[in-house]
Amino acid sequence: MSIKDNLNFFNEKLGDNTKLVAVSKTKPNEMIMEAYNCGQRIFGENKVQALIERVDDLPKDIEWHFIGHLQRNKVKFIAPFVDTIHAVDSLRLLKEIEKQAKANSRKIKCFLQFHIAAEESKFGLNFEEARQILLSDEFKSMAFVQIAGVMGMATFTDDLLKVRNEFKTLKRYFDSIKEEFFYDHEGFTEISMGMTNDYKIAIEEGSTIIRIGTAIFGEREKH
Ligand SMILES: *Cc1c(COP(=O)(O)O)cnc(C)c1O
Repeated sequence: MSIKDNLNFFNEKLGDNTKLVAVSKTKPNEMIMEAYNCGQRIFGENKVQALIERVDDLPKDIEWHFIGHLQRNKVKFIAPFVDTIHAVDSLRLLKEIEKQAKANSRKIKCFLQFHIAAEESKFGLNFEEARQILLSDEFKSMAFVQIAGVMGMATFTDDLLKVRNEFKTLKRYFDSIKEEFFYDHEGFTEISMGMTNDYKIAIEEGSTIIRIGTAIFGEREKH
């Protein structure tokens, strides 16, 4: 299967309500251009250094999504161009994004990352921590970050029921936060969940953005 075939497969499947982030991490720019030339515009990266090394060599109308854990001291490197940051998991990080977005006179969309998986190693907020961020005076005074949705990663397991329940939890968090904080905002719309192994379940459970690497670009080398 070519990149083109893979993108067609997803685009036929997704329809208008679900977006596709093509996760290009570790893959050469040539493969990004192949996807770009098929019409794909949203690409995802999870390492700051790798992203900034390639961004100048690629078309300016690519919508870059930063999907990995982001360290505060690196926000400044991606703030000039990043469209959406998927994994905001602290007020301190959000404050730094606000500062750097302001310095660049641009808005940056952010998703709150929730810890929905059983695995300990994964980053993310619990529901109460997210509420405390949104209730804080610091958040209320922010003008350059836009909380546009939520993001989560399910446990890596063959237990599909477990995965489904974790996605259901994220959808519930989204609905509750929408109702409590964003009921009169148009901009809080996205549920970023689903990767190559679990996107089918994610879509059934209400995903609006799936993040797909392997099923578009092939297996990655293990580092
Ligand atoms: C790598 C990565 C993906 C894509 O994973 P695949 O299994 O290759 O589709 C999605 N989300 C995040 C946060 C990632 O780091």
